[in-house]
Amino acid sequence: MAKALIIGAGGVAGVTVHKCVQNSAVFEEICIASRTKQKCDDLKAKLDGQGCKISTAQVNADNVNELVDLINDVQPDIVINLALPYQDLTIMDACLATKTHYLDTANYEPEDTAKFEYKWQWEYREKFEKAGITAILGSGFDPGVTGVFSAYAQKHYFDEINYIDILDCNAGDHGYPFATNFNPEINIREVSANGSYWENGDWIETAPMEIKKVYDFPEVGPKDMYLLHHEELESLALNIKGIKRIRFFMTFGESYLTHLKCLENVGMTSIEPIIYEGKEIIPLQFLKAVLPDPASLGPRTKGKTNIGCIYRGKKEGKDVNYYVYNVCDHEACYAEVGSQAVSYTTGVPAMIGAMLVVNGTWNKPGVHNVEELDPDPFMEALNTWGLPWVEDFNPTLVSE
Ligand code: NDP
Repeated sequence: MAKALIIGAGGVAGVTVHKCVQNSAVFEEICIASRTKQKCDDLKAKLDGQGCKISTAQVNADNVNELVDLINDVQPDIVINLALPYQDLTIMDACLATKTHYLDTANYEPEDTAKFEYKWQWEYREKFEKAGITAILGSGFDPGVTGVFSAYAQKHYFDEINYIDILDCNAGDHGYPFATNFNPEINIREVSANGSYWENGDWIETAPMEIKKVYDFPEVGPKDMYLLHHEELESLALNIKGIKRIRFFMTFGESYLTHLKCLENVGMTSIEPIIYEGKEIIPLQFLKAVLPDPASLGPRTKGKTNIGCIYRGKKEGKDVNYYVYNVCDHEACYAEVGSQAVSYTTGVPAMIGAMLVVNGTWNKPGVHNVEELDPDPFMEALNTWGLPWVEDFNPTLVSE
Protein backbone atom coordinates (compact mmCIF):
# COMPACT_ATOMS: atom_id res chain seq x y z
CA MET A 1 0.00 0.00 0.00
CA ALA A 2 1.57 3.27 -1.10
CA LYS A 3 1.10 7.01 -1.09
CA ALA A 4 1.88 9.09 -4.20
CA LEU A 5 2.34 12.83 -4.50
CA ILE A 6 1.22 13.88 -7.99
CA ILE A 7 2.52 17.29 -9.09
CA GLY A 8 0.50 19.03 -11.83
CA ALA A 9 -3.23 18.93 -12.45
CA GLY A 10 -3.43 19.22 -16.25
CA GLY A 11 -4.53 16.76 -18.94
CA VAL A 12 -2.01 14.03 -18.14
CA ALA A 13 -2.28 14.33 -14.35
CA GLY A 14 -6.07 13.99 -14.60
CA VAL A 15 -5.64 10.55 -16.21
CA THR A 16 -2.95 9.39 -13.75
CA VAL A 17 -5.15 10.43 -10.84
CA HIS A 18 -8.07 8.40 -12.27
CA LYS A 19 -5.80 5.40 -12.77
CA CYS A 20 -4.32 5.59 -9.25
CA VAL A 21 -7.87 5.68 -7.88
CA GLN A 22 -8.80 2.63 -10.02
CA ASN A 23 -5.66 0.95 -8.64
CA SER A 24 -6.33 1.72 -4.98
CA ALA A 25 -5.02 -1.73 -4.02
CA VAL A 26 -1.59 -0.18 -4.67
CA PHE A 27 -2.27 3.55 -4.26
CA GLU A 28 -4.04 3.77 -0.94
CA GLU A 29 -3.48 7.49 -0.78
CA ILE A 30 -2.64 10.28 -3.21
CA CYS A 31 -1.99 13.99 -2.83
CA ILE A 32 -2.54 16.17 -5.93
CA ALA A 33 -0.51 19.38 -5.79
CA SER A 34 -0.22 22.04 -8.46
CA ARG A 35 0.12 25.74 -9.14
CA THR A 36 -3.66 26.22 -9.33
CA LYS A 37 -5.12 24.38 -6.34
CA GLN A 38 -8.67 24.65 -7.70
CA LYS A 39 -7.81 22.17 -10.47
CA CYS A 40 -6.60 19.70 -7.81
CA ASP A 41 -9.77 20.21 -5.79
CA ASP A 42 -11.90 19.64 -8.91
CA LEU A 43 -10.18 16.29 -9.51
CA LYS A 44 -10.64 15.34 -5.87
CA ALA A 45 -14.34 16.26 -6.01
CA LYS A 46 -14.78 13.95 -9.03
CA LEU A 47 -13.04 10.94 -7.51
CA ASP A 48 -13.40 11.14 -3.75
CA GLY A 49 -14.84 8.16 -1.92
CA GLN A 50 -13.71 5.50 -4.41
CA GLY A 51 -11.24 3.67 -2.18
CA CYS A 52 -8.24 5.96 -2.47
CA LYS A 53 -7.77 8.77 0.06
CA ILE A 54 -7.19 12.04 -1.82
CA SER A 55 -5.76 15.30 -0.50
CA THR A 56 -4.77 18.45 -2.40
CA ALA A 57 -2.21 21.22 -2.03
CA GLN A 58 -0.94 24.34 -3.72
CA VAL A 59 2.72 24.31 -4.76
CA ASN A 60 5.07 26.28 -6.93
CA ALA A 61 7.21 23.48 -8.35
CA ASP A 62 9.91 25.96 -9.44
CA ASN A 63 10.73 26.42 -5.75
CA VAL A 64 12.75 23.61 -4.14
CA ASN A 65 12.06 24.74 -0.55
CA GLU A 66 8.29 24.74 -1.12
CA LEU A 67 8.54 21.27 -2.63
CA VAL A 68 10.64 19.96 0.26
CA ASP A 69 8.10 21.30 2.78
CA LEU A 70 5.26 19.70 0.83
CA ILE A 71 7.02 16.33 0.57
CA ASN A 72 7.88 16.41 4.29
CA ASP A 73 4.27 17.19 5.05
CA VAL A 74 2.72 14.55 2.74
CA GLN A 75 5.42 11.85 3.27
CA PRO A 76 4.80 10.11 -0.08
CA ASP A 77 6.54 6.93 -1.26
CA ILE A 78 6.94 8.49 -4.72
CA VAL A 79 6.59 11.87 -6.43
CA ILE A 80 4.96 11.64 -9.87
CA ASN A 81 5.99 14.76 -11.78
CA LEU A 82 3.25 15.70 -14.28
CA ALA A 83 3.96 19.42 -14.32
CA LEU A 84 6.08 20.77 -17.18
CA PRO A 85 9.59 19.73 -18.24
CA TYR A 86 10.92 23.01 -16.77
CA GLN A 87 10.21 21.69 -13.25
CA ASP A 88 12.08 18.37 -13.55
CA LEU A 89 15.28 19.47 -11.82
CA THR A 90 13.68 21.33 -8.91
CA ILE A 91 11.44 18.32 -8.24
CA MET A 92 14.42 15.95 -8.46
CA ASP A 93 16.33 18.18 -6.01
CA ALA A 94 13.41 18.05 -3.57
CA CYS A 95 13.22 14.25 -3.92
CA LEU A 96 16.93 14.01 -3.13
CA ALA A 97 16.59 16.25 -0.09
CA THR A 98 13.75 14.11 1.26
CA LYS A 99 14.96 10.69 -0.05
CA THR A 100 11.79 10.10 -2.05
CA HIS A 101 11.43 8.15 -5.33
CA TYR A 102 10.79 10.22 -8.47
CA LEU A 103 9.09 9.64 -11.85
CA ASP A 104 8.37 11.91 -14.82
CA THR A 105 7.14 11.75 -18.43
CA ALA A 106 9.25 14.37 -20.21
CA ASN A 107 12.90 15.34 -20.00
CA TYR A 108 14.22 18.59 -18.61
CA GLU A 109 14.26 21.58 -20.88
CA PRO A 110 15.46 25.05 -19.80
CA GLU A 111 12.58 27.49 -20.24
CA ASP A 112 14.66 29.94 -22.31
CA THR A 113 16.20 27.37 -24.72
CA ALA A 114 14.04 25.06 -26.83
CA LYS A 115 16.43 22.14 -26.50
CA PHE A 116 15.74 18.99 -24.59
CA GLU A 117 18.49 16.58 -23.63
CA TYR A 118 18.94 14.04 -20.86
CA LYS A 119 22.32 15.40 -19.80
CA TRP A 120 20.95 17.49 -16.93
CA GLN A 121 18.95 14.65 -15.42
CA TRP A 122 21.62 12.00 -16.04
CA GLU A 123 23.95 14.13 -13.90
CA TYR A 124 21.81 13.08 -10.90
CA ARG A 125 22.62 9.38 -11.33
CA GLU A 126 25.25 9.10 -8.62
CA LYS A 127 23.33 11.30 -6.19
CA PHE A 128 20.19 9.17 -6.48
CA GLU A 129 22.21 5.97 -6.20
CA LYS A 130 23.96 7.20 -3.05
CA ALA A 131 20.66 8.34 -1.54
CA GLY A 132 19.19 4.87 -2.23
CA ILE A 133 16.27 6.27 -4.24
CA THR A 134 14.97 5.56 -7.74
CA ALA A 135 14.24 8.09 -10.49
CA ILE A 136 12.39 6.84 -13.57
CA LEU A 137 12.69 9.22 -16.52
CA GLY A 138 10.13 9.43 -19.29
CA SER A 139 7.35 7.06 -18.22
CA GLY A 140 4.67 8.35 -20.61
CA PHE A 141 4.03 6.83 -24.03
CA ASP A 142 6.75 8.40 -26.12
CA PRO A 143 9.05 8.50 -24.26
CA GLY A 144 7.90 5.70 -22.03
CA VAL A 145 6.06 2.81 -23.62
CA THR A 146 8.29 3.17 -26.71
CA GLY A 147 11.30 2.44 -24.45
CA VAL A 148 9.50 -0.48 -22.78
CA PHE A 149 8.56 -1.87 -26.24
CA SER A 150 12.25 -1.60 -27.20
CA ALA A 151 13.46 -3.42 -24.09
CA TYR A 152 10.80 -6.10 -24.67
CA ALA A 153 11.82 -6.56 -28.33
CA GLN A 154 15.47 -6.79 -27.29
CA LYS A 155 14.75 -9.27 -24.49
CA HIS A 156 12.46 -11.64 -26.38
CA TYR A 157 12.91 -11.37 -30.15
CA PHE A 158 16.36 -10.06 -31.11
CA ASP A 159 20.06 -10.70 -30.55
CA GLU A 160 20.62 -7.26 -32.00
CA ILE A 161 18.24 -4.51 -33.11
CA ASN A 162 19.71 -2.50 -36.00
CA TYR A 163 16.86 -0.15 -36.97
CA ILE A 164 14.04 1.42 -34.99
CA ASP A 165 11.26 3.57 -36.41
CA ILE A 166 8.94 5.06 -33.80
CA LEU A 167 5.58 6.01 -35.32
CA ASP A 168 3.22 8.30 -33.43
CA CYS A 169 -0.11 8.71 -35.17
CA ASN A 170 -2.95 10.77 -33.84
CA ALA A 171 -5.92 10.51 -36.18
CA GLY A 172 -8.19 12.28 -33.71
CA ASP A 173 -10.39 15.14 -34.87
CA HIS A 174 -11.39 17.78 -32.29
CA GLY A 175 -13.20 19.99 -34.79
CA TYR A 176 -11.05 23.10 -34.17
CA PRO A 177 -8.98 24.49 -37.06
CA PHE A 178 -5.96 24.56 -34.70
CA ALA A 179 -5.42 23.17 -31.22
CA THR A 180 -2.73 21.04 -29.60
CA ASN A 181 -3.41 17.78 -27.81
CA PHE A 182 -1.09 18.49 -24.95
CA ASN A 183 0.42 21.61 -23.44
CA PRO A 184 0.55 24.00 -26.47
CA GLU A 185 3.82 25.61 -25.43
CA ILE A 186 5.64 22.28 -25.10
CA ASN A 187 3.99 20.87 -28.24
CA ILE A 188 4.84 23.85 -30.45
CA ARG A 189 8.41 24.05 -29.16
CA GLU A 190 8.80 20.37 -30.08
CA VAL A 191 7.39 20.54 -33.60
CA SER A 192 8.90 23.85 -34.66
CA ALA A 193 12.43 22.74 -33.72
CA ASN A 194 14.79 21.15 -36.25
CA GLY A 195 14.24 17.44 -36.76
CA SER A 196 17.00 14.90 -36.26
CA TYR A 197 17.65 11.20 -36.30
CA TRP A 198 20.45 9.05 -35.04
CA GLU A 199 22.55 7.10 -37.51
CA ASN A 200 25.82 5.20 -37.04
CA GLY A 201 26.78 7.12 -33.91
CA ASP A 202 25.91 10.60 -35.19
CA TRP A 203 22.93 12.93 -35.10
CA ILE A 204 21.72 13.91 -38.57
CA GLU A 205 19.87 17.21 -38.38
CA THR A 206 16.97 18.12 -40.71
CA ALA A 207 14.92 21.29 -41.18
CA PRO A 208 11.55 21.24 -39.35
CA MET A 209 9.11 18.94 -41.23
CA GLU A 210 11.69 18.35 -43.99
CA ILE A 211 11.22 14.57 -44.15
CA LYS A 212 7.68 13.44 -44.90
CA LYS A 213 6.45 9.85 -45.35
CA VAL A 214 3.05 8.25 -45.72
CA TYR A 215 2.27 5.21 -43.57
CA ASP A 216 -0.83 3.03 -43.57
CA PHE A 217 -1.51 2.66 -39.84
CA PRO A 218 -3.41 -0.41 -38.62
CA GLU A 219 -7.00 0.50 -37.58
CA VAL A 220 -6.43 4.11 -38.70
CA GLY A 221 -5.42 4.14 -42.40
CA PRO A 222 -2.83 6.09 -44.40
CA LYS A 223 -1.51 9.30 -42.83
CA ASP A 224 1.22 11.85 -43.59
CA MET A 225 3.96 11.70 -40.98
CA TYR A 226 7.03 13.87 -40.44
CA LEU A 227 10.43 13.18 -38.94
CA LEU A 228 10.99 14.96 -35.61
CA HIS A 229 13.69 14.95 -32.99
CA HIS A 230 12.38 13.14 -29.94
CA GLU A 231 13.92 12.59 -26.55
CA GLU A 232 13.89 8.79 -26.43
CA LEU A 233 16.23 8.64 -29.45
CA GLU A 234 19.04 9.78 -27.15
CA SER A 235 18.59 7.08 -24.50
CA LEU A 236 17.66 4.26 -26.91
CA ALA A 237 20.84 4.93 -28.92
CA LEU A 238 22.78 4.13 -25.73
CA ASN A 239 20.68 1.32 -24.34
CA ILE A 240 19.79 -0.87 -27.35
CA LYS A 241 22.45 -3.28 -28.60
CA GLY A 242 23.60 -3.14 -32.23
CA ILE A 243 21.61 -0.05 -33.14
CA LYS A 244 22.46 1.62 -36.46
CA ARG A 245 19.59 4.06 -36.91
CA ILE A 246 16.63 5.40 -34.92
CA ARG A 247 13.99 7.70 -36.39
CA PHE A 248 10.84 9.23 -34.91
CA PHE A 249 7.80 10.19 -36.98
CA MET A 250 4.64 11.99 -35.95
CA THR A 251 1.50 12.51 -38.03
CA PHE A 252 0.17 15.99 -38.66
CA GLY A 253 -2.83 17.10 -40.70
CA GLU A 254 -2.61 19.81 -43.32
CA SER A 255 -4.68 22.30 -41.32
CA TYR A 256 -2.36 21.97 -38.30
CA LEU A 257 0.75 22.55 -40.40
CA THR A 258 -0.72 25.51 -42.33
CA HIS A 259 -1.71 27.23 -39.07
CA LEU A 260 1.65 26.49 -37.50
CA LYS A 261 3.52 27.93 -40.49
CA CYS A 262 1.42 31.09 -40.37
CA LEU A 263 1.90 31.50 -36.60
CA GLU A 264 5.64 30.99 -37.06
CA ASN A 265 5.78 33.49 -39.91
CA VAL A 266 4.17 36.20 -37.80
CA GLY A 267 6.42 35.50 -34.79
CA MET A 268 3.78 34.00 -32.50
CA THR A 269 5.79 30.83 -31.77
CA SER A 270 8.88 32.71 -30.59
CA ILE A 271 10.22 32.18 -27.06
CA GLU A 272 12.19 35.45 -27.17
CA PRO A 273 10.58 37.94 -24.72
CA ILE A 274 9.07 41.11 -26.24
CA ILE A 275 7.74 44.25 -24.54
CA TYR A 276 3.98 44.66 -25.00
CA GLU A 277 2.31 47.72 -23.47
CA GLY A 278 5.18 48.09 -21.03
CA LYS A 279 5.13 44.44 -19.91
CA GLU A 280 7.47 41.68 -20.99
CA ILE A 281 5.66 38.78 -22.63
CA ILE A 282 6.77 35.66 -24.48
CA PRO A 283 4.78 35.31 -27.73
CA LEU A 284 4.46 31.51 -27.43
CA GLN A 285 3.09 31.81 -23.88
CA PHE A 286 0.57 34.40 -25.08
CA LEU A 287 -0.43 32.05 -27.91
CA LYS A 288 -0.96 29.27 -25.34
CA ALA A 289 -3.35 31.55 -23.47
CA VAL A 290 -5.59 32.03 -26.53
CA LEU A 291 -5.57 28.42 -27.77
CA PRO A 292 -8.08 25.82 -26.53
CA ASP A 293 -6.99 24.17 -23.28
CA PRO A 294 -5.96 20.57 -24.21
CA ALA A 295 -8.00 19.34 -21.24
CA SER A 296 -11.11 20.78 -22.94
CA LEU A 297 -10.64 18.72 -26.12
CA GLY A 298 -11.81 15.48 -24.51
CA PRO A 299 -15.55 15.74 -25.16
CA ARG A 300 -15.01 16.87 -28.80
CA THR A 301 -12.32 14.48 -30.02
CA LYS A 302 -13.24 11.51 -32.20
CA GLY A 303 -10.97 8.92 -33.82
CA LYS A 304 -7.96 6.90 -32.75
CA THR A 305 -4.29 7.10 -31.95
CA ASN A 306 -1.82 4.43 -33.00
CA ILE A 307 1.64 4.64 -31.44
CA GLY A 308 4.25 1.95 -31.87
CA CYS A 309 7.70 0.91 -32.98
CA ILE A 310 9.02 -1.07 -35.93
CA TYR A 311 12.23 -2.98 -35.24
CA ARG A 312 14.60 -4.62 -37.72
CA GLY A 313 17.50 -6.77 -36.61
CA LYS A 314 18.75 -10.30 -36.20
CA LYS A 315 18.01 -13.35 -34.09
CA GLU A 316 20.33 -16.37 -34.41
CA GLY A 317 21.66 -14.98 -37.68
CA LYS A 318 18.20 -14.55 -39.26
CA ASP A 319 16.55 -11.24 -40.19
CA VAL A 320 13.62 -10.30 -37.94
CA ASN A 321 11.05 -7.54 -38.46
CA TYR A 322 8.74 -6.72 -35.55
CA TYR A 323 6.07 -4.05 -35.08
CA VAL A 324 4.39 -3.52 -31.73
CA TYR A 325 1.76 -0.83 -31.25
CA ASN A 326 -1.20 0.33 -29.23
CA VAL A 327 -4.41 1.72 -30.67
CA CYS A 328 -6.42 3.99 -28.42
CA ASP A 329 -9.84 5.47 -29.08
CA HIS A 330 -10.38 9.11 -28.06
CA GLU A 331 -14.07 8.68 -27.25
CA ALA A 332 -13.51 5.51 -25.22
CA CYS A 333 -10.84 7.33 -23.16
CA TYR A 334 -13.19 10.23 -22.58
CA ALA A 335 -15.98 7.90 -21.48
CA GLU A 336 -13.62 6.21 -19.00
CA VAL A 337 -11.62 9.08 -17.48
CA GLY A 338 -12.89 12.31 -19.03
CA SER A 339 -9.77 12.94 -21.20
CA GLN A 340 -8.77 12.39 -24.81
CA ALA A 341 -6.32 9.67 -25.88
CA VAL A 342 -3.13 11.77 -25.94
CA SER A 343 -3.44 12.49 -22.21
CA TYR A 344 -4.63 8.90 -21.63
CA THR A 345 -1.69 7.26 -23.38
CA THR A 346 0.68 9.37 -21.21
CA GLY A 347 -1.17 9.22 -17.88
CA VAL A 348 -1.62 5.43 -17.80
CA PRO A 349 2.11 4.59 -18.19
CA ALA A 350 2.93 7.17 -15.50
CA MET A 351 0.71 5.27 -13.05
CA ILE A 352 2.21 1.92 -14.16
CA GLY A 353 5.82 3.10 -13.74
CA ALA A 354 5.01 4.50 -10.29
CA MET A 355 3.27 1.26 -9.31
CA LEU A 356 6.36 -0.77 -10.29
CA VAL A 357 8.62 1.48 -8.22
CA VAL A 358 6.47 1.45 -5.10
CA ASN A 359 5.80 -2.31 -5.24
CA GLY A 360 9.56 -2.91 -5.48
CA THR A 361 9.66 -4.36 -9.03
CA TRP A 362 11.42 -1.31 -10.48
CA ASN A 363 12.99 -0.11 -7.26
CA LYS A 364 16.61 0.32 -8.33
CA PRO A 365 18.53 3.25 -6.81
CA GLY A 366 19.82 5.63 -9.46
CA VAL A 367 18.36 7.52 -12.43
CA HIS A 368 17.00 5.27 -15.18
CA ASN A 369 15.29 5.50 -18.54
CA VAL A 370 12.49 2.96 -18.75
CA GLU A 371 14.25 0.66 -21.23
CA GLU A 372 16.95 -0.04 -18.61
CA LEU A 373 14.45 -1.96 -16.46
CA ASP A 374 12.65 -5.30 -16.91
CA PRO A 375 9.92 -4.66 -19.51
CA ASP A 376 7.77 -7.74 -18.78
CA PRO A 377 5.78 -6.50 -15.76
CA PHE A 378 5.19 -3.16 -17.52
CA MET A 379 3.97 -4.89 -20.71
CA GLU A 380 1.59 -7.00 -18.66
CA ALA A 381 0.30 -3.94 -16.82
CA LEU A 382 -0.35 -2.10 -20.13
CA ASN A 383 -2.85 -4.83 -21.04
CA THR A 384 -4.47 -4.63 -17.60
CA TRP A 385 -4.70 -0.85 -17.30
CA GLY A 386 -6.13 0.18 -20.68
CA LEU A 387 -3.31 0.22 -23.25
CA PRO A 388 -3.31 -3.26 -24.84
CA TRP A 389 -0.66 -3.83 -27.49
CA VAL A 390 -0.61 -5.72 -30.79
CA GLU A 391 2.35 -7.54 -32.36
CA ASP A 392 3.03 -7.96 -36.09
CA PHE A 393 6.01 -9.97 -37.35
CA ASN A 394 5.42 -9.06 -40.98
CA PRO A 395 4.80 -5.30 -40.91
CA THR A 396 4.86 -2.83 -43.77
CA LEU A 397 8.15 -0.96 -43.33
CA VAL A 398 8.59 2.80 -43.54
CA SER A 399 10.03 3.69 -46.95
CA GLU A 400 13.73 4.66 -46.98
P1 NDP B 1 -0.79 20.70 -18.86
O1 NDP B 1 -0.30 22.04 -19.25
O2 NDP B 1 -2.20 20.31 -19.15
O3 NDP B 1 -0.57 20.49 -17.27
C1 NDP B 1 0.59 20.92 -16.61
C2 NDP B 1 0.24 21.11 -15.15
O4 NDP B 1 1.41 21.50 -14.45
C3 NDP B 1 -0.79 22.23 -14.94
O5 NDP B 1 -1.73 21.81 -13.98
C4 NDP B 1 0.07 23.38 -14.42
O6 NDP B 1 -0.58 24.25 -13.53
C5 NDP B 1 1.12 22.62 -13.65
N1 NDP B 1 2.30 23.46 -13.48
C6 NDP B 1 2.99 24.14 -14.43
N2 NDP B 1 3.98 24.85 -13.87
C7 NDP B 1 3.93 24.61 -12.55
C8 NDP B 1 4.67 25.05 -11.43
N3 NDP B 1 5.71 25.89 -11.56
N4 NDP B 1 4.31 24.61 -10.21
C9 NDP B 1 3.28 23.77 -10.04
N5 NDP B 1 2.53 23.30 -11.05
C10 NDP B 1 2.85 23.72 -12.29
O7 NDP B 1 0.23 19.65 -19.49
P2 NDP B 1 -0.04 18.11 -19.82
O8 NDP B 1 -0.81 17.49 -18.73
O9 NDP B 1 -0.50 18.01 -21.22
O10 NDP B 1 1.46 17.55 -19.80
C11 NDP B 1 2.10 17.22 -18.56
C12 NDP B 1 3.50 16.68 -18.84
O11 NDP B 1 3.41 15.50 -19.64
C13 NDP B 1 4.39 17.66 -19.64
O12 NDP B 1 5.68 17.62 -19.09
C14 NDP B 1 4.41 17.07 -21.04
O13 NDP B 1 5.59 17.39 -21.73
C15 NDP B 1 4.34 15.59 -20.71
N6 NDP B 1 3.86 14.76 -21.83
C16 NDP B 1 4.54 13.58 -22.09
C17 NDP B 1 4.12 12.76 -23.10
C18 NDP B 1 4.77 11.43 -23.30
O14 NDP B 1 4.25 10.60 -24.06
N7 NDP B 1 5.88 11.12 -22.67
C19 NDP B 1 3.00 13.12 -23.98
C20 NDP B 1 2.29 14.31 -23.57
C21 NDP B 1 2.74 15.10 -22.54
P3 NDP B 1 -1.73 25.29 -14.02
O15 NDP B 1 -2.95 24.45 -14.05
O16 NDP B 1 -1.75 26.35 -12.98
O17 NDP B 1 -1.31 25.79 -15.37
